[in-house]
Amino acid sequence: MKVETDILIIGAGPVGLFTVFEAGLLGLKCTLIDNLDKVGGQCSELYPDKPIYDIPGVPVQTAEQHVDALVKQIEPFKYNLHLSQRVETITEIETIDNITTWNIKTNKGLECISKNIFIAAGAGSFEPRRPPNIENPDQYLNKGVSYNVKSIDRFKDKNLFIFGGGDSALDWTVELSKIAKSTNLVHRRDAFRGSQHTEELMRSLVESGDINLLTPFQIESIKGKNKVEAVTLKNFDTKEIVNHSADELLFLFGLNKKLGPILQWDLTLSQNKISVNTENFQTNKNGIFAVGDINDYPGKLDLILCGYHETTLAVQKAYQRIHPGERVPFGYTTSNKKLQKKLGVGK
Ligand SMILES: Cc1cc2nc3c(=O)[nH]c(=O)nc-3n(C[C@H](O)[C@H](O)[C@H](O)COP(=O)(O)OP(=O)(O)OC[C@H]3O[C@@H](n4cnc5c(N)ncnc54)[C@H](O)[C@@H]3O)c2cc1C
Repeated sequence: MKVETDILIIGAGPVGLFTVFEAGLLGLKCTLIDNLDKVGGQCSELYPDKPIYDIPGVPVQTAEQHVDALVKQIEPFKYNLHLSQRVETITEIETIDNITTWNIKTNKGLECISKNIFIAAGAGSFEPRRPPNIENPDQYLNKGVSYNVKSIDRFKDKNLFIFGGGDSALDWTVELSKIAKSTNLVHRRDAFRGSQHTEELMRSLVESGDINLLTPFQIESIKGKNKVEAVTLKNFDTKEIVNHSADELLFLFGLNKKLGPILQWDLTLSQNKISVNTENFQTNKNGIFAVGDINDYPGKLDLILCGYHETTLAVQKAYQRIHPGERVPFGYTTSNKKLQKKLGVGK
């Protein structure tokens, strides 16, 4: 599939989402691509329930509420959203009158063509952390090894082992114990980093025999020919090795942030971030912008509101690249009837 778009946005975190709004006000169409299976970037993936206090005019909002509000705010604008795929390559198609057209490809075969690439990739794409001492656990991917829960049906009536000590491990242990044949929570110490309430719930289910808590254990090996059949655990203190037959292993060790393919795009980097100018947040490449946490310039702060400022200015430049020689239309949303029409508000 090949998509042509005014602005191609890599990353559907808060800054990528707000780019759709600013672009929409100027009548530009956006295509958003994200490696995750949902929008919201760090807000959705790392701290959905944490309150944010420094969004201007919003005294308090959880990260999830903030993302929901952004999605609502961009509803009036038609945009394409492609999730669960990573942008791998950016290549130049042509440069005419100093305006370059770019082609991007994802790891799922999607191709997009645009004069404006906005890299709103935060700290890079999130990759689940693998169990540290297992060689190539991915050979069992979808054959008994998972790093997230895409569908709870996978774990129905299965002997399930969940590994981890944070919120995700606790939440899913409690939730999946309702449907799994047996639910075993494995952690290397008998202390958890998740919410106290969920830990208490988990421990009460251990007492009632619905969950088997295995601490202080860590995984030693996975056994099985074409799929997971058993797991070997090592006691952290006594070094004793125990075998358990197992159907599903769910590793919830958190996420690594990786710049990954971004390093191959021939962009000038500074401290593992993309260098930009502060006039329009363009990189060293004509038509490739970097906004939000992924960029670097003197005085840069990794804050949501800084990303919103950056992308607002970058979109102005993107407009000029789509409509060369034209003045960028400027208007306050409070008083501009045309803008209000676009937003579906006003009379
Ligand atoms: C615990 C915590 C609390 C925080 N609290 C606050 C706060 O109170 N106030 C505040 O202002 N900020 C806070 N921050 C920082 C804030 O979350 C970031 O500044 C913000 O998320 C940056 O937004 P972004 O859109 O630039 O990037 P991100 O939110 O990081 O989103 C980037 C997206 O790009 C995707 N991506 C990356 N590479 C690719 C690729 N090659 N292909 C496809 N997709 C890709 C990623 O999957 C990700 O979804 C907090 C951060 C953390 C971790």
